[in-house]
Amino acid sequence: MQALTCARCGVRIQPGRYCPSCSVLLCGACARESKCPADGRDLRKLRGSGVFLLVLGVALYGFALFSVTLELQSYERASFPTTSIANVVSGTTVKISGTIEASGLVAIELRGSGNDHYWAVEPFNLTDGTGSLYVDVTQVQGSTSFWVIGRGLHGDDWWDGDAASIIGHVAVFPNATTYIVAQFIARTPNGFAGSGFPSLLFASVATVAVIGGSIGFVRFRHSLSRHRQGSATYMAKVQDWRACGECGELVSLEAQNCPSCKEIIPRVSRSLSELPTLQLATKFGQRSLRERVAVIVLGVILPTFLGAVFLGIIRVIGLERSLQPSLLLLPIFAIVSAIVFASRFFFPTRIKLSPELIVCRKVLRNVSILTREVDRILTIQKGNRQAHLFITRGDQTVGFGPGMAQADFEASRAWIRILAEATGNRYRENVPLAEALSFLRQREPVRQ
Ligand SMILES: [Zn+2]
Ligand SMILES: [Zn+2]
Ligand SMILES: [Zn+2]
Repeated sequence: MQALTCARCGVRIQPGRYCPSCSVLLCGACARESKCPADGRDLRKLRGSGVFLLVLGVALYGFALFSVTLELQSYERASFPTTSIANVVSGTTVKISGTIEASGLVAIELRGSGNDHYWAVEPFNLTDGTGSLYVDVTQVQGSTSFWVIGRGLHGDDWWDGDAASIIGHVAVFPNATTYIVAQFIARTPNGFAGSGFPSLLFASVATVAVIGGSIGFVRFRHSLSRHRQGSATYMAKVQDWRACGECGELVSLEAQNCPSCKEIIPRVSRSLSELPTLQLATKFGQRSLRERVAVIVLGVILPTFLGAVFLGIIRVIGLERSLQPSLLLLPIFAIVSAIVFASRFFFPTRIKLSPELIVCRKVLRNVSILTREVDRILTIQKGNRQAHLFITRGDQTVGFGPGMAQADFEASRAWIRILAEATGNRYRENVPLAEALSFLRQREPVRQ
């Protein structure tokens, strides 16, 4: 994709500051005080690209689809015909309806609370006008699902004498009496059907997210294409200017002092072509002991432990019952932790410094900036850790340091000294973190 550039000065930028009347994007140096230099209009922030909402919407459609599958199965169970108890045949799956005859008052009890509820079921008989059948409850015992056992009349519980409808497999005891192995229990023969509400909810939220995301995405793309057209005819163009390294004001290449902050502007004394090309990489072994321990614990040991715990739970209570939100957090957290920590630190970050480009390649992300557009160079110091930071006039940033061999870090420092002279920038060397942050904040354009 073609790089996005400031309509006024042509540096590469991130999409952000937008003049609605000129339909162009500007860099922070050109859009000082959040005003368009061509017509003085207040700039507004270009809204997000809508991609996040689109992804969220698609994920929610996944949930909706899953939910619809469960609903369809429940409608199938609801429409299954009822057999009278006198007519059940062993070896078949039937639906019977009648009254619970239990030895105690409570036949089916909902135990636990919140996400940890489960059904505790006493064996009982189901009786209709034609006969009575023993109900084997082993398959539904301990179930956590309201699809398997619906909510009863007495604070969710089911009592002796309540009406019930059961779908199950008919089997025969050695003494030739038939019984039913219950698979699903509902209050009425039609009561197996879900309300359809969760599917509807997921589908509507997903639709809203996808529509919102699409509108955002289209508007964003539209703004970018208007920016490309508007840039060609933008009135307040500047050429051969650069930003003052202290305050960010645009100054001419010949200026000796910044008209805004009065600071002396360093002269350009060398050429970018004098810069050598350096290829550097971080190594896990070069990181501090504390960092290495943290990565191994959070990126390897913890995920392995959580994964093992989850597999153990599956072995004990079965896969089906393990697939509930509170338990699924274990593998999800394990995977996220492994990706975030292990991938970031075990795999090297590769840095290429050349007269044309500064490139930083990480596992999941590549960043590159034009060397000639750099207008702030810092080496930030925190304790005994150091990092180089390059920022362009268009606020694009590349930073590196931790995990790099000392010799490589010093080689890049020598490279930076040449860069500072070749671009006429002040190299801020070994700045404490707090001071660096206040310098960076000072260059943020004034918001409306
Ligand atoms: Zn600009
Ligand atoms: Zn404008
Ligand atoms: Zn200045």
